Amino acid sequence: MDTEEIIQTLKQVRDYLAPLQTPYEQAIYNYLFRWSYLETGERSVRKGKRTIAAESGAPRFGSSISYAAVDENLRSLEKKGHIRIGDVTREGTLYTILLPIEIPECIRLMHERHQLPEGPPDYFGDPAKRREIFERDQWVCHYCGEEVTEENACLDHLIPRSKGGESTWNNLVTSCLECNSIKSGKTYEEAAPLLLERIKQRRMRRAKDKER
Ligand SMILES: [Zn+2]
Repeated sequence: MDTEEIIQTLKQVRDYLAPLQTPYEQAIYNYLFRWSYLETGERSVRKGKRTIAAESGAPRFGSSISYAAVDENLRSLEKKGHIRIGDVTREGTLYTILLPIEIPECIRLMHERHQLPEGPPDYFGDPAKRREIFERDQWVCHYCGEEVTEENACLDHLIPRSKGGESTWNNLVTSCLECNSIKSGKTYEEAAPLLLERIKQRRMRRAKDKER
């Protein structure tokens, strides 16, 4: 996580996760978060329960948390899906810390309050963004090189959406109506022979028109 992501995550912990936790659970979750993500950048940390008991309570409660309470709250955190409890060795138990964006209950709360970070810009659905692609391609079809107009300009997904292609700056190209309908749903490799055939036909048609 970079600094920006850590700040974002801490806000989400404060706003969406903490309200779902008891004070003891919060103290233990924050303690594990501090020794994993904030200390090593790892998702997991290995700690003994006695260490957790001795160290996690003091900042908040002014004293250690009892071993029994630590044990109980670790299990309730796991039950809530806020941490995962892994294997036990001499050095302690391995705890994996789940982030608010990985916890369904938090995700639901975030959606409710529209606090999820915005997705990438939609270059396909947003008219202003579509125009940016047409401008970039100078209103010329990527496949046949014909000029396109406001009326017949299309955007084509290089990697089709059906194959996981997204509506991003790099995956969209300007295309004319004709090439777009040939290319639709196909990869470039699949569509290339058909596109070339159509371009040839168009050229021949034009040559004939000239002869007349
Ligand atoms: Zn074209």
